[in-house]
Amino acid sequence: MRETVASPTRIGLDLIAIAEGTDLDFDLRFESVSEGVLVTGTVSAATSGECVRCLTATTGEVEVALTELFAYPDSTTEATTDSDEVGHVVDATIDLKQPLIDAVGLALPLSPLCRDDCPGLCPQCGVALAQAEPGHQHEQIDPRWAKLSGMNLRPDRP
Ligand SMILES: [Zn+2]
Ligand SMILES: [Zn+2]
Repeated sequence: MRETVASPTRIGLDLIAIAEGTDLDFDLRFESVSEGVLVTGTVSAATSGECVRCLTATTGEVEVALTELFAYPDSTTEATTDSDEVGHVVDATIDLKQPLIDAVGLALPLSPLCRDDCPGLCPQCGVALAQAEPGHQHEQIDPRWAKLSGMNLRPDRP
């Protein structure tokens, strides 16, 4: 089964997630096994997040593999497991939402970066260095002279 479904909810972590309404591309196989339906395949979607170093908006892709057994009603598996351990077929449908939320949570980076070598924010002015002009820096005043820089000193004439 190949199907694209708009995500009914935001799926992911605080800093990066599949936004609500984003296309989820399912590529799944359903196999009937003795106790239920075995679902295997992948789900991919675009992600949006924020770089932890410079707070710039970042976008990416996540793909997760799913292998989930959904037990038939009245099967031994259904009788001996809780629905949070093994999915259950309810009213002839299966709910992939929780397995998907779990898999995406594990696949996303805890510390998303706009790029691997993101230099972060300028400690002086807070601009994102990845976006600033190359060599962005501020004139540094030697702290020993900082006190004098605001004073007009008139050396004595010889
Ligand atoms: Zn960054
Ligand atoms: Zn700066």
